[in-house]
Amino acid sequence: MSTRKVAKERTSKRASVLSGQAASPKNAGLRQLSRKAVTKVKSKQVGATAPSPTRFKAAPAGGIAALDSRRAIGVGETIGGALRRRFTGPGDSTNSVVDNGGGQVLTDVPLRLIFWGREWGQATPPVPSADVIADVEKILAGPYLDAARQYGITNAYVDSIMTRDSDDPPNPFQNKDAGNLVAGLIDDGTFPEPDDDYRAALYVVFLPQNVGPPNAQQVLQLPPDLGGLHSFSTYEDYDPPIDFDNDRFYWAWVFNDGNRADISSLFSHELVEALTDPSGDAIQIQPRNKTNWNEIGDVCRSTWVLNGVTVQSYWSKIDNACVVPDHIGNDFQVRWIYRPRRIEWLGGTMGDGTPWQMPREQVMNRIRAGDQFFVHAPQSGGNVLVGIYYLDATHPYLATAPDGESDDNLLSLPQRVPS
Ligand SMILES: [Zn+2]
Repeated sequence: MSTRKVAKERTSKRASVLSGQAASPKNAGLRQLSRKAVTKVKSKQVGATAPSPTRFKAAPAGGIAALDSRRAIGVGETIGGALRRRFTGPGDSTNSVVDNGGGQVLTDVPLRLIFWGREWGQATPPVPSADVIADVEKILAGPYLDAARQYGITNAYVDSIMTRDSDDPPNPFQNKDAGNLVAGLIDDGTFPEPDDDYRAALYVVFLPQNVGPPNAQQVLQLPPDLGGLHSFSTYEDYDPPIDFDNDRFYWAWVFNDGNRADISSLFSHELVEALTDPSGDAIQIQPRNKTNWNEIGDVCRSTWVLNGVTVQSYWSKIDNACVVPDHIGNDFQVRWIYRPRRIEWLGGTMGDGTPWQMPREQVMNRIRAGDQFFVHAPQSGGNVLVGIYYLDATHPYLATAPDGESDDNLLSLPQRVPS
């Protein structure tokens, strides 16, 4: 037997969908504005994997550490190919001051995506959950979080996905509803109790269309105050006589206006803030606020389409600007390998169809400089990035991210002798 209550809850500033991208006509003008701030527009179609909840399995046998060097670029380092796009559009601060409260940030965070509401189970919801998942995966696979490494975070990955379409969330939706949903799912054993969890996880609740705070309909027309929120709750569970738990779990909810670009943008906002200020005592913007958290996404508005997904900019101290990390390299599709014993050469085509072939070392150098190499998966239709992995400190090798699927592995490609 156990009793549980959600004891504590705090709020942070809500995200905004002000410069939501594309689709919706109401945003068309704003999109223009936010794009004017950047000098170079480059579309990206690559860099993501197909949605799969098990993408981040352990490295293949023998691989002790996986390192995608592009994503390991250090703070302020200017390795070729890395780029932080700066924004100075409406709502983008130009002089924010970061305030580090010293609290914990989240690292290597398992994300648990919860799609709440009957709509997600329908045949044709306004935005299918598969699209949201694909966007989340692309955000996590790309460089979006790189500029937040300066605040001490690392990565996040999709740990599990669930659809809760047996009921609808309350509307109007209150913050405690998100915490209570997660607490209930911990109670019924769907998710582990926080102190039994292998890491501090972030639960992200995606709402059905137009379910939101009391003034949601109004704020839809009147940005900047709607969209999403992250916080934590304390899970108290008394299992007599010996087990007393009192642990936090972190959650966020994301508003759904039926616009895929707005959902991904709001998600990115809550993600980067939940990682850098999970409990409201870590990274904030001055003036720090204990109850209405003033965070790095709250002083920025501009969005950018990164790897085909709309994300929101956030404050970067080292740039003194609102940024979206990006890369300016080339994209190479790998179509064949030459592997007498190990992979010696790789070849394929670039986006414009130009054929290429390179020895292994050159591919590695190009990845380190910001280029992307990917394998197209015939089954899922997705593209999987090739990264640099290490058998040990002196033996790097090339591989796609381990995902339990074989059709997108380098070794699944046909062999060819380089010309
Ligand atoms: Zn925020």
